[in-house]
Amino acid sequence: MRQPLIAGNWKMNGTKASVERLLAGVVGGAGSIQHSEMAVCPPFPFLQMAEQALAGSRVRLGAQNCATETLGAFTGEVAAAMLADFGCRYVIIGHSERRALYGEDEAIIAKKLVAAVAVGLTPILCVGETLEERERGDMEAVIAAQIDGIIALCGIAAFGAWELAYEPVWAIGTGKTATPAQAQEVHAFIRARLAAQDAVVAQKIRILYGGSMKGSNAPELLSQPDIDGGLIGGAALNADEFLAIARAGDAAANT
Ligand code: PEP
Repeated sequence: MRQPLIAGNWKMNGTKASVERLLAGVVGGAGSIQHSEMAVCPPFPFLQMAEQALAGSRVRLGAQNCATETLGAFTGEVAAAMLADFGCRYVIIGHSERRALYGEDEAIIAKKLVAAVAVGLTPILCVGETLEERERGDMEAVIAAQIDGIIALCGIAAFGAWELAYEPVWAIGTGKTATPAQAQEVHAFIRARLAAQDAVVAQKIRILYGGSMKGSNAPELLSQPDIDGGLIGGAALNADEFLAIARAGDAAANT
């Protein structure tokens, strides 16, 4: 049984005041969560505040991106080592918004994965298809290409130190969720793809679902055999919703 991981991707949201309230809400409720591992990924300027607020709690800290390079003249970039210095355990890499809006391709994503692991961070590597790709019947081909591209650049063994997130692009921030059966089908496909190269890595790796997950749909999604947690956008900005998803992870872990 893989321990559920419930990770909040706060994206580019928050003010000092709202982040302080959100952190207090998550930390305040975290004591009631028994099995789920929880993590929050705030925007960079709030990492120090989050590091302090999460200290001594069971909620882990993550970031939403990191640089491909390690140090030096890269204006505007944030190095993986800086994230580790601020107490991050996780870093989201290859989110569909970064692929679509900032031109991140497999080569860039692979460099970021290597940079993150080199300083002890655990990447959460995101994959997923667009609505157009799904409707064309290309869903499996797109996801296979995303996975195979990274295997070719980093090797299958590297996946043993990462988390994966399946995020259908058409379900992100749209209120449209993949049905539990649709999500399970893709998660099983991803695991089988990895297992064809390394069965041990495939059994060990956590594959999170992301795309309009919330307290009400989390129980059914998280009870699927190959869904090992959630990467949560909008609902992670509300402490009660986020905690409700973590509770659904607890319930799934108990079944
Ligand atoms: C995300 O962007 O990672 C995400 C899953 O967003 P939302 O939950 O808002 O769909």
